[in-house]
Amino acid sequence: MKKETPKEINEKNKKNESFLDRTLRPNCWNEYIGQENTKNNLLILLKAAKERQQQPEHLLFYGPAGLGKTTLAYLISKETGRQIKITSGPAIEKVGDLASLLTNLSPGDILFIDEIHRLNKNIEEILYPAMEAGSLDIILGKGPSARTIQLELPPFTLIAATTRVALLSSPLRSRFSGGVFRLEFYSDEEIKEIIKRSARILKVETDDETALEIAKRSRFTPRTANFLLKRCRDFAQVNKNKLDKTTVNQTLSLLGIDELGLSQLDTQLLKIIIEKFNGGPVGLNTIAAALSEEQATIEEVNEPYLIQLGLLERTPRGRAATEKAFKHLNIQYPEDKKLF
Ligand code: ADP
Repeated sequence: MKKETPKEINEKNKKNESFLDRTLRPNCWNEYIGQENTKNNLLILLKAAKERQQQPEHLLFYGPAGLGKTTLAYLISKETGRQIKITSGPAIEKVGDLASLLTNLSPGDILFIDEIHRLNKNIEEILYPAMEAGSLDIILGKGPSARTIQLELPPFTLIAATTRVALLSSPLRSRFSGGVFRLEFYSDEEIKEIIKRSARILKVETDDETALEIAKRSRFTPRTANFLLKRCRDFAQVNKNKLDKTTVNQTLSLLGIDELGLSQLDTQLLKIIIEKFNGGPVGLNTIAAALSEEQATIEEVNEPYLIQLGLLERTPRGRAATEKAFKHLNIQYPEDKKLF
């Protein structure tokens, strides 16, 4: 048999991971745990549209990565029995790309655009009449001889997702007539349920206590929970151990994740603010430079979790570490800060 190259093995592993991510994706509303408010609103909106025999209106989901935005789009496609076409903001490079996507939709299709905040502004403008009037305005030619032709589009529902809703222009935001829904972080109990379901699908034996232990380190995020479960499963399998609390602790310390679920980058970020800038406030660009990280990564990946845990504060003068952060890192909280 031909030996696989490391590149081929890597590709295969990646495929397996994304396949697992898909198999773990909830297939019905009952399996979609939490986000009750969004879920209830969506169910009413979908039912009402169905009763009127109309297309559901355009929807926008926002919130940190891995909270279940794409999954909601899939569930809506299942519920309505409509086809879903998936793309993302950065994948639509030219006006023509969007025009071809829209004109190739079948009546009733759902178009899902992930990372819509990364959509080019002149492409975004094409979306306005498409969302509002179901038409596509195409400008032919340049200068005084330019003319616009209008193409009628089949009825469709746009579902968009973003981790950075503040970057969306208000004209775009206001065109999501079905609603703009904020996805919340999950509670430990909700994440525990998600882990138990994933463990059943992966055929891994585990108990409540172990699932809760993983949940507590999962950044309140289903995708992280599934990732950690899979790594703990690997560790248990290789060491021929049961997947119990000890295995979880060993796996997570190997991954460099502490008891609050902080990654090494989270810890470094807090340490820089505390040790180099006396706890802050300090500007995001300075932190990013000190960490050699992208500002966007810090804003989208690290900060939401650190803020949620109460370890970091965003102030008008920059980011500041809280007293809790000092305590977590076993560093004395400066006396002068206590006065404020
Ligand atoms: P996003 O689009 O917000 O980045 P996804 O919808 O891709 O997140 O979710 C990532 C993974 O997390 C999914 O494949 C699914 O396995 C899991 N997941 C997300 N939300 C839930 C939920 N509410 N219940 C169960 N599993 C979930």
